[in-house]
Amino acid sequence: MDDQHSKIRSADIIPLPAFRDNYIWLLRHGPCAAVVDPGDAAVVEAALQAHGLRLVAILLTHHHDDHIGGVAELAARHHPVVFGPAGENIPGLTRRVGEGDEVALNALEQRFTVLAIPGHTTTHIAYHAPGILFAGDTLFSAGCGRLFGGTAAQLHASLQRLAQLPGDTAVYAAHEYTLANLAFARTAEPSNPARDAWIVECEALRAAGRPTLPTSIARECGINPFLRTDSPGVIDTVTAHSGQRPANSAECFAALRRWKDVF
Ligand SMILES: [Zn+2]
Repeated sequence: MDDQHSKIRSADIIPLPAFRDNYIWLLRHGPCAAVVDPGDAAVVEAALQAHGLRLVAILLTHHHDDHIGGVAELAARHHPVVFGPAGENIPGLTRRVGEGDEVALNALEQRFTVLAIPGHTTTHIAYHAPGILFAGDTLFSAGCGRLFGGTAAQLHASLQRLAQLPGDTAVYAAHEYTLANLAFARTAEPSNPARDAWIVECEALRAAGRPTLPTSIARECGINPFLRTDSPGVIDTVTAHSGQRPANSAECFAALRRWKDVF
């Protein structure tokens, strides 16, 4: 395997819409497939049959039901290797992984490195390969996950870490929340021309029934208020809203996250 480049092309990473706004990401290479966070087995099954694929691996970012709900059924039928966070008792998990672990999907000629990115949950992980990030519910376009167990400080640190990845890294998030997130982003940072251009683009994509994902690290650094808690435009708005000037980026992030919870 070539360590420098991902073998999987973006055309071979397919979004499977599930529930109201989830995406189950399917990776294909030849006759083999892997899926990320299969909350619904039937959705995956239909895609495997439509494309004539064999499921060899499941990657789980965290333990929430809408991400793991299909695992038992898919595992019983296909016997894939099931990777997921070591700290959770997820039924069907066969490979418990954490920070720095390598996930080798030999049948897909693809490998990932596990990043521990707590905050949405305390044990949330991401799968990273050059140019590709499966971010689960940690980083969305124009937003980030809610705090369901982890702390604002943890989520802030995790997002700061993801922001350090190369700008052209494609971010495959698990939910189509982009337009709602952008409405908050416009309030949190009133002046941001790049963000306004992204709104226009996303409205067109959604009107055409297409996903707004993947996004990229470079785009998110430019438009996502949760990655811009050092920016004067965000700091000023947070100060005006909370009545207190945040002392640092982490405090600004925490105030922004609280604000978004009730937006
Ligand atoms: Zn979740």
